[in-house]
Amino acid sequence: MTLILEDIKKSFGDGENKTEVLKGISCEIKDGNICVLLGPSGSGKSTLLNIIGGIENSDSGKIKIGDEVVGEMKEKKLTQYRRKHLGYVFQSYNLIPNLTVKENIEVGAYLSDKPLNIDELLKTLGLWEHKDKIPNQLSGGQQQRTAIGRAIVKNPDILLCDEPTGALDYNTSKEILKLIEDVNKKFGNTVILVTHNDAIKNMADQVIKLKDGQIRHNDMNEKKIPAMELDW
Ligand code: ADP
Ligand code: MG
Repeated sequence: MTLILEDIKKSFGDGENKTEVLKGISCEIKDGNICVLLGPSGSGKSTLLNIIGGIENSDSGKIKIGDEVVGEMKEKKLTQYRRKHLGYVFQSYNLIPNLTVKENIEVGAYLSDKPLNIDELLKTLGLWEHKDKIPNQLSGGQQQRTAIGRAIVKNPDILLCDEPTGALDYNTSKEILKLIEDVNKKFGNTVILVTHNDAIKNMADQVIKLKDGQIRHNDMNEKKIPAMELDW
């Protein structure tokens, strides 16, 4: 589903302590695209993902998903929006420690009206032989694969990934980013991905760079632009 952000503003604190984190963010993220969100630490990437995810409210501006405006949804509808349209993957995997890989993924399917086939998904994720293990029997990469499974099993329209490889070594990070790309190709979910990993160079359809509360770059088909600056 295409996502449109219109002039999103967000501040934290009051008076002298007020910090304007997002100073008017406008962009369109097209259905089925992988959008990579870059920016220095503290530039508001997580805040923006949380606003898109309906976890946090913006002070002003609009978010449209399809025909709907997220901020105008009533509580019940917002809950449905989160459940049906959004999957979230974090740096910390947040798995339930006493459930198996398969059960952790089943949790994500709960309440979904269009869940993916779990066995098939376990195979896509490379977790078939680990499906009966609990999280502390897994490597970091396997735990993140499980977390991706839990987010994707409801087949969300939008997958929000906030530094999903932040806790992983370089090679495992590459594998996880490749998996996100595979999932995007296979299931067609729109992906918004915050990462510092330069392995994303070849998978982004769109790259947005945030700095000082504003969008500094918004490039489509970045993979065709060879000299991409990722470092800040
Ligand atoms: P990023 O993910 O790009 O590192 P964040 O969105 O986490 O940045 O944070 C942006 C800024 O907003 C930071 O200065 C952070 O301290 C501040 N901030 C984020 N969440 C809150 C909050 N709930 N209360 C107060 N300040 C916050
Ligand atoms: Mg962050």
